[in-house]
Amino acid sequence: MPLRDALLDALLSALPPALRDALLDARSVLFPVDCAGCDSADRSLCDQCRAALEPDVTVRSVGGPGRDGLRVHSGARYEGRVRRVILAFKEQGRTDAAAALSRPLAAAVAAALSTAPAAELLLVPTSRAAYRRRGYDPVRLLASRAGLRVVRELHQVRATGVQKALGVEQRAANRDGAFRARRDLSGRSFIVVDDVVTSGATILEVARAVRAAGGDVLGAATLAFTPRLLPIRDIAEGQEYGNDKEAHKTA
Ligand SMILES: [Zn+2]
Repeated sequence: MPLRDALLDALLSALPPALRDALLDARSVLFPVDCAGCDSADRSLCDQCRAALEPDVTVRSVGGPGRDGLRVHSGARYEGRVRRVILAFKEQGRTDAAAALSRPLAAAVAAALSTAPAAELLLVPTSRAAYRRRGYDPVRLLASRAGLRVVRELHQVRATGVQKALGVEQRAANRDGAFRARRDLSGRSFIVVDDVVTSGATILEVARAVRAAGGDVLGAATLAFTPRLLPIRDIAEGQEYGNDKEAHKTA
């Protein structure tokens, strides 16, 4: 399936629009599916949702100034169509969106690596329960589609509960001590790779675990960031953020 999708994506993007549309219509007869981002009929990902996923890299700092702070590069904003495509990819098995979602992740990784070219790309551990439920690791799948070489040097030492329901302080407390390195990481440096950054608590906890094992974390790269000025709580399902895009660019 993934190879078929990759070949189709490559083929379709090289074609004139009229021919491409004809082929998409033919595909929808063979493999009927609605858009992962907006439910418009018969397209795995419609043109508008695909356009919304065009990489637009922003940088934010998490964890405050000094050695504990990290710069996080993100390739898209977690809102609107982008948010719905990511949720469909992560929670509804829409792995057909992986190729399109891998592009903003790849852009964020490239930006992060430009300041730390020797760093390895470190995946955030997923819980066994999450893996069993989905049957795949979303970030690993995206990295693979982007042709990125990633390593998994941490494991989760305890369940962290439902992070979504917690405020910023609780999130930080909830993640504290959640991860541990599998081995000594002395002399190695990493860029943390994750899907969505909200408070940064997960990334900071990964950095803590890496440093505890003798390694270093030079930054992070995520597919998307949650654009909100006061990250106190998660906004309810279906609501959109109305913030000005430029207000969140910090670099
Ligand atoms: Zn759509």
